[in-house]
Amino acid sequence: MNRLSKRVQQLTPSPTLAITAKAQELKAAGHNVIGLGAGEPDFNTPKHILEAAKKAMDEGQTKYTPSSGIPKLRQAIVDKLSRENGLTYVPSQITVTVGAKHGLYNLFQVLLNKGDEVIVPMPYWVSYLDQITLAEGQPVILTTDEQQNFKITPEQLEAAITEKTKAVLINSPSNPTGMVYTPEELQKIGEICVKYDLWIISDEIYEHLVYDEQFSPVSIASLDPRFYERTFVINGVSKTYSMTGWRIGFVAGPADVINVMNDLSSHSVSNPTSIAQFAALAAFTGPQEPVKKMKAAFKERRDYVVNRIHEIEGLSCLTPPGAFYVFINIRKALEESPYQNSDEWSTALLEKEQVAVVPGSAFGSNHHVRISYATSIEDLQEAFKRIEHFTSHLA
Ligand code: PLP
Repeated sequence: MNRLSKRVQQLTPSPTLAITAKAQELKAAGHNVIGLGAGEPDFNTPKHILEAAKKAMDEGQTKYTPSSGIPKLRQAIVDKLSRENGLTYVPSQITVTVGAKHGLYNLFQVLLNKGDEVIVPMPYWVSYLDQITLAEGQPVILTTDEQQNFKITPEQLEAAITEKTKAVLINSPSNPTGMVYTPEELQKIGEICVKYDLWIISDEIYEHLVYDEQFSPVSIASLDPRFYERTFVINGVSKTYSMTGWRIGFVAGPADVINVMNDLSSHSVSNPTSIAQFAALAAFTGPQEPVKKMKAAFKERRDYVVNRIHEIEGLSCLTPPGAFYVFINIRKALEESPYQNSDEWSTALLEKEQVAVVPGSAFGSNHHVRISYATSIEDLQEAFKRIEHFTSHLA
């Protein structure tokens, strides 16, 4: 008997969660580990959001909700998309999901037939490939590097399109590079998607975490009605409101597809947690000052980290305008080390210096590592002392 389905045989555990677990394990065993692996803000969820969740519990909001989410939250998302992104939706075009991750999962499940191709720019967020493969689709990876600011070019995109191409994925600001596409770049990508009749999947989960005004992100859906009608906007509360554990995300797009996503949810998760939905409602409708405060702290840390990387022999990086990661190029450091690739280098860094980073292989590159600066400045200072010690003792 084959104990497992064919579908899951290629499934790999999320490397970012794995490295976080490994760092926690070492910490629990008494090691002084600094974790730069986790993709989550280190701040607690803002107080007014916690209060809203408590109130929801006290008022008995502890039952099943519609699979698409509570009407008030869907309306709040409609209002957010109008206010912040210049996008017009009605609630039937919104599905609330168990994090953006679940939204993407459902979307691939309802859009893809066996063999359908989805174009994924590399470096990519770890879950895209597994999610596409689980839906029996085929990820088509477009490689980018520092020379092109880790962004795909229109020429590259057009050359990758085949008869089987169904969708193009854009993640701006990007995890792991922090890069943001300009409206002009998105316009060109959108035109190609119109020309070849492709869906656009726009993962905007880091939209509020951008530190340089000139890079303010725009949603590709807002640029042109022809883009709007073929775009799914993915977003959520995890990163903006430091609510990773609450698991609330959403997808906005054409109502017929959104409806099928609701049906899929109705047979799997039923609905996102009722209490978390009320918390997310408070996040979207309440004061936005806590977001500004978190953003200011992230900016200070980003600047510190980028400066330190430039000071360390063998490491280099672009300054990421957004998200809370730096994708560090370790090619030179590798050349001077006994290690062959970013996996070996990261493992040695964890073992020798107790600093956890995510190897670039998780995002498609063997000569990068990703660090998350969503941790205190004191920890970052200590981590970079250790990284400097590690690289200078490799030769
Ligand atoms: N998209 C990207 C690019 C991410 O980095 C993440 C989280 O790491 C997600 C989606 C999923 O976020 P959520 O916590 O809402 O599922």
